[in-house]
Amino acid sequence: MRGMSVPAVALAVALAVLAMPVTGPAACATGRIVGAALVDDWAYDTLGELCDRIGQRLAGSPRMAAAIDWAVATLARAGFDSVWTEAVTITRWVRGEEEGQVVAPVAFPLRLTALGTSVGTPAAGLEAEVLAVRDFAELDERAGEAVRRIVLFDEPWEGYGKSVRYRWRGASAAARHGAVACLIRSVTGNSLATPHTGVMSYVDSLPRIPAAAITIEDAGRLHRLCDRGLRPRVQLRLGAHAAGEVTSANVVADLRGRERPQEIVLLGAHLDSWDLGTGAHDDGAGCAIVMGAARLLHELGLRPRRTVRVVLFESEEFGGQGGEAYHEAHAGEIARHVAALESDSGAFAPDGFSVRGDSLAVLRVRELAAPLAHLGAAAVVSGGAGVDVGPIVRAGVPGIGHRTDSGGRYMDYHHSPADTFDKIDPAELARNVAVVAALAFALAEDPQPLPRRSEDPVQ
Ligand SMILES: [Zn+2]
Repeated sequence: MRGMSVPAVALAVALAVLAMPVTGPAACATGRIVGAALVDDWAYDTLGELCDRIGQRLAGSPRMAAAIDWAVATLARAGFDSVWTEAVTITRWVRGEEEGQVVAPVAFPLRLTALGTSVGTPAAGLEAEVLAVRDFAELDERAGEAVRRIVLFDEPWEGYGKSVRYRWRGASAAARHGAVACLIRSVTGNSLATPHTGVMSYVDSLPRIPAAAITIEDAGRLHRLCDRGLRPRVQLRLGAHAAGEVTSANVVADLRGRERPQEIVLLGAHLDSWDLGTGAHDDGAGCAIVMGAARLLHELGLRPRRTVRVVLFESEEFGGQGGEAYHEAHAGEIARHVAALESDSGAFAPDGFSVRGDSLAVLRVRELAAPLAHLGAAAVVSGGAGVDVGPIVRAGVPGIGHRTDSGGRYMDYHHSPADTFDKIDPAELARNVAVVAALAFALAEDPQPLPRRSEDPVQ
């Protein structure tokens, strides 16, 4: 699909839509929504503005504040019935200046980036010999060698779920054995010499040591120097520090339902991003998709039975404080949230949806998504919905994760300086707007709300 123009995709899809069995007004609306979405460049233009004019949006930062103002103005201009912000309190983290180099047995610069919430080094930096290990088990075996060293975790990539453990808890594992700093191989399978950041955590009872990711190229070279017995030494200077509590915000916008406006179909994405790139796939794309999907219904004059609510969450990257704040602010309205869809898997080819909730909800979403088979989005499986909607989903709201298939590319860009607007394919973005808009309309129009878990007290 890459390289195919938007009109060419639209023509292909229009032909496919004509070939589809039309089974009623909902199927008819799906055809209109999809046809319009595929020739509409609003989401692409909006994402370009967010990435290029606003830029990175580290949680609680001045750029995030600019993004919130931009989102409020953009949603109001797009014709939503009401647009507002809701306070989110977060502990702000500042990266500061950062640099590192190998100083012996051969000098070369390290391409590195501190992990989110890491402490910094002393202002003058620190220098120590490196102990490179493959995994936690090897560190435990060689615990005696970790004292006063910089521990490098150079775990072979076996997928995000496995490798992210070193980012999350590597620093405390190293500190437990007396290390002075922790480096990890960037959590990615593939890299052209770019470091990938991401959030980490400390165990309260252990010393907090600085933690940074280095490129997979530098991790490999350091590890090989260690294996040759050459005892490489590294200098690190990280300016990372916590900068106190700040009040930031989620952005919320409603397209009011025509019959049951008190019932809500929530479409969510996170507005915050890491600070290295411009958060194009993660998660500017999700923001553009959910904003664009709801706006499209408005543009087409399709006002569904229920309210369609767009929520752009703050601070997903630091653990989901925006999602928790939304749950707290709306705790009394959980029963009126019919579904919560989250788009946080980039703007690659649509790959269906995952549903967290009752098995009957999975079946119903599968029926509602069936007309999207020609866009590759009819696969509906049981699975996670997303970090931001997590708190309300755990409280009983059926959760829906919007899935895309990047063919492995997503993790190449993820949390790195390469997550920029040039990586967005306009045709794939348009297809995602189409499938989210069509499913959102179907959910908001369905005479019966989605089945909830039988143990859910609100039903
Ligand atoms: Zn994300």
